[in-house]
Amino acid sequence: TKLRVGLLFGGCSGEHEVSISSARAIAKALTTDENANRYQVLPVYIQKDGVWKDREIAQQVLESGKPLLISDEARPGDRIPQTINLSEIDVWFPILHGPNGEDGTIQGLLTLIQVPFVGSGVLGSAMGMDKIAMKMAFSQAGLPQVKYQLVMRSQIYSNPCIFPKLCDQLEAELGYPCFVKPANLGSSVGISKVRNRQELETALDNAASYDRRIIVEAGVVARELECAVLGTDYPKASVVGEITFNSDFYDYETKYTEGKADLFIPAKVSDEITQKIQEMAIQAFLAIDASGLGRVDFFYVEETGEILINEINTLPGFTATSMYPQLWATTGVPFPELVHQLIQFALERDSEKK
Ligand code: ATP
Ligand code: MG
Ligand code: MG
Ligand code: MG
Repeated sequence: TKLRVGLLFGGCSGEHEVSISSARAIAKALTTDENANRYQVLPVYIQKDGVWKDREIAQQVLESGKPLLISDEARPGDRIPQTINLSEIDVWFPILHGPNGEDGTIQGLLTLIQVPFVGSGVLGSAMGMDKIAMKMAFSQAGLPQVKYQLVMRSQIYSNPCIFPKLCDQLEAELGYPCFVKPANLGSSVGISKVRNRQELETALDNAASYDRRIIVEAGVVARELECAVLGTDYPKASVVGEITFNSDFYDYETKYTEGKADLFIPAKVSDEITQKIQEMAIQAFLAIDASGLGRVDFFYVEETGEILINEINTLPGFTATSMYPQLWATTGVPFPELVHQLIQFALERDSEKK
């Protein structure tokens, strides 16, 4: 009998559309000859308002590739998936990016339901989503990173006002250019590169509209390299890939407009750099207690030879052209096989718990 895979996608986040694209690619990979004998896909769509839809509606979104909002005046209680028959599903494959899906919330729900699921658990997901928590874990693991500082939204809008003093201190500590980021997001949403005081003030205000926690980082001039990790207790690292683009930084538009960024796999770097990045990627994966999959992003400062870790994504973009599956394809694990392995890791981890 076939294993019923609950493909969970969409979600309440700025990366809703990306999730639909990822889910389409995974659904397709589960219907190749080999996988079709093993798995049956049951798509479950989370609308932008947080309401879950399965069957015809989920299938329709998957086929059209376009978001759908069936308005039934959602009240908080409606967002619990009570209309979905959860016992129909043998293993969940959540492919939600960003808050409310990549951050441990869905993972908590699936843990409570006691059905195996692909990817990191509650801790790994939450640590991987919060850039402050992630950096603290990386620093504990001895991984080099850029200088940074935490800013709370409450510091930006406090009365009496401490904002000018806060900006003075950020300027002195980090200099320009620096990067202002909401701590819990992805796809560069809410991120600004700032070059002066006025841009810093605007960027902090903007980031605060996305999150209570904000991170400000010293900017580096570096090549951007990424490495994919796969596995559980003994994870493996893929070949290293590089992203190049002409824009100011790797922002949302550059990420999702065709032709604005190029991926080079494998990256043209020495074997020594490749090896070091692979080691660091696995260390980072273990440091936050990730599981299943993770894409680790690096800055490579060529002049000094320095490799700095930027971040990990526990549910990275998973479309046919995304970095994560492409890195594995070049390493020798084609897309359909990758999806199969991820489901097998989920089942293994679940049986080990008992
Ligand atoms: P993802 O879509 O990978 O989850 P994200 O929203 O988590 O992205 P980051 O990876 O932290 O965002 O940053 C996005 C991009 O901004 C980087 O790929 C890089 O181009 C630029 N960037 C971020 N931080 C720095 C920095 N400290 N110095 C130089 N460039 C930076
Ligand atoms: Mg990220
Ligand atoms: Mg991300
Ligand atoms: Mg990134």
